[in-house]
Amino acid sequence: MTDEFTTQVYYEDDVDESYLEDTTVAVLGYGSQGHAHALNMQESGIDVRVGLREDSSSRAAAEEEGLEVGTPAEVAQVAEVISVLVPDTVQSAVYEEIEPHLEDGDTLQFAHGLNIHYNQIQPPEHVDVTMVAPKSPGHLVRRNYENDQGTPGLLAVYQDTTGEATERGLAYAKAIGCARAGVLETTFQEEVETDLFGEQVVLCGGVTSLVKAGYETLVDAGYSPEAAYFECMNELKLIVDLMYEGGLSEMWDSVSDTAEYGGLTRGDRVIDDNARENMEEILEEVQSGEFAGEWIAENQVGRPKYTQIRQAEKDHEIEEVGERLRGLFAWADEQEEKPAEAPADD
Ligand code: NAD
Ligand code: MG
Repeated sequence: MTDEFTTQVYYEDDVDESYLEDTTVAVLGYGSQGHAHALNMQESGIDVRVGLREDSSSRAAAEEEGLEVGTPAEVAQVAEVISVLVPDTVQSAVYEEIEPHLEDGDTLQFAHGLNIHYNQIQPPEHVDVTMVAPKSPGHLVRRNYENDQGTPGLLAVYQDTTGEATERGLAYAKAIGCARAGVLETTFQEEVETDLFGEQVVLCGGVTSLVKAGYETLVDAGYSPEAAYFECMNELKLIVDLMYEGGLSEMWDSVSDTAEYGGLTRGDRVIDDNARENMEEILEEVQSGEFAGEWIAENQVGRPKYTQIRQAEKDHEIEEVGERLRGLFAWADEQEEKPAEAPADD
């Protein structure tokens, strides 16, 4: 543990893995996170079972890896730690199936706090409720573990009946490789609210809207779609890689002085006070539960709005231009295949 940070960060030496000894862990779902948690834990020597529907197409993939598979109810019955790694939108339905099998002192474990924080799942008082949330897509949780590396993770305890929830959560984090990179202590509330805000405003929503708006501004002004694509989308990766490696400074150091001066004087005109006010408004919608309510309602009526805006995004001109240009890259044919992920069958 180190106290140089404002929050507690745990590493492998801080973890006592004996807290998962003689423990069976049920992993519900075998998608992005599920397959990674199950396989990493299996290799860490933990007794793992995978919970999937009878007709799930992921069953064969899990069994091929030597994992024992049952229905969510069956594996929840034998396990002391039940890790809920089905999609957030089906978790409350799957929870109904396993609730009768939650015994005194069991742990209900999540990788995202949405359903607990917004009361879609209300666990009984006699179980621990924890979250170990890798800050990374599942295929990297798996790939990094295989390469003797790890992905950072968050640990939160919502309910601690046994008095050992933190220790067990840490042992779980170590078993999936997160303690190799650092496990940050947080709360369900902080994880959910920062996660939703981050993906809406910066990572997924903000950045795609920035790219599209930049692209459209250039194309509308008569520049070629190809030039606009390279400028506003393709180069973004190079810039983000520099920020990832060495922070904003390394990025500014690597671009030309002209780019640095122009960026530093113009960036705040794009993300101006108005944009910041919108960010605050979006944060309030997250904090009040308004966003969660909207998303839950959207799912209850069969996702009509989601289906429509998802298609509109796929149909954006930048997608067609980009696909064509990427296909012409000299190395396009030999490009590495996408990392193998367990098939999603939802
Ligand atoms: P996913 O969509 O990749 O996979 C879910 C799996 O659940 C499916 O493959 C299937 O095996 C199973 N499943 C689907 N519907 C089911 C049903 N009705 N009954 C039983 N099983 C069903 O999900 P994911 O992205 O791995 O997300 C799992 C959890 O991890 C979520 O809480 C999510 O917020 C969290 N999380 C995901 C990521 C990520 O990178 N994807 C990162 C951090 C946290
Ligand atoms: Mg996220």
